[in-house]
Amino acid sequence: MMLPRPTLRIAEVFPSVQGEGLRLGEPTLFVRLAGCNLRCSFCDTKYARTGGEMRTRDSVLAEVRKIRLVFPAPWVCLTGGEPLLQDISGLVRDLKKEGLKVQVETNGTVDRLLPVDWYTVSPKPKDYFYQLRFRKAAKEVKLVASRELTYEVVRRLRIEFPLETPMILQPESNRQPSAKRAMGILDQCLKDGLSNIRLSVQLHKVLRLR
Ligand code: SF4
Repeated sequence: MMLPRPTLRIAEVFPSVQGEGLRLGEPTLFVRLAGCNLRCSFCDTKYARTGGEMRTRDSVLAEVRKIRLVFPAPWVCLTGGEPLLQDISGLVRDLKKEGLKVQVETNGTVDRLLPVDWYTVSPKPKDYFYQLRFRKAAKEVKLVASRELTYEVVRRLRIEFPLETPMILQPESNRQPSAKRAMGILDQCLKDGLSNIRLSVQLHKVLRLR
C-alpha cells in the first residue's frame, strides 16, 4: 500500500481564541501554513514566511482531533503565511467532514476560492491588490493601520467591496500611533459618508495569549 505523501508545509497547529476581526474571542484551532508571497514590514508572523514542516493531511487532521479532545472548538482557522499558496482543498474537505467550521485568512492575492465558511481578506501594501472574486467571498475585510494605509486606500476598498461586508481597521500590534492613524482615517470616512468601517484590536496580544 502506498503511504500518503506529505503535501502541506505547516508552521504550527494550536488552540486559542480568534484574536482578530469579527470573530474576535471565539474559540478556534489554528493551522498555520508556512510560506508567503509578500514581505509586509509589519508582519508579525515572519517565522511562518519560510520553513515549516512537510506533513500529510492525515497527520494535520490527527493533530486537530487530538487538540479537540481537550479543546473542542467548533472553528478551525487556516492562516499563515499565505495559506492559499498551497493546495488546501483536501484539508478543507477533511475538516468540514469533521463537522468543523473553516475560516481562511488570506492576503487575497492568490486566485483560489474554496468552499469555506468564512473568508477574512486582508489586502496588503503597497498596492493593496486582491483577486476580484474575493469581493463577493469576503465575510470581512481587514486592514492593518500601518504607515502605508491611507484614507484613499480605505475609500477605494470601501467602494469596491459590498457595503454589507464590514471593513476593519486594525492598529499595528495595538500600538498607539497606529491606533491614532486608524482613528484619523475612520473620522475622515465618517465625514465622507463611508460606512460599515470599524476599529479593532489584536485580542491575543492584549491578553497575551498566543
Ligand atoms: S501577507 Fe501576512 S504573512 Fe505575508 S508578509 Fe504580509 S503580514 Fe506577513
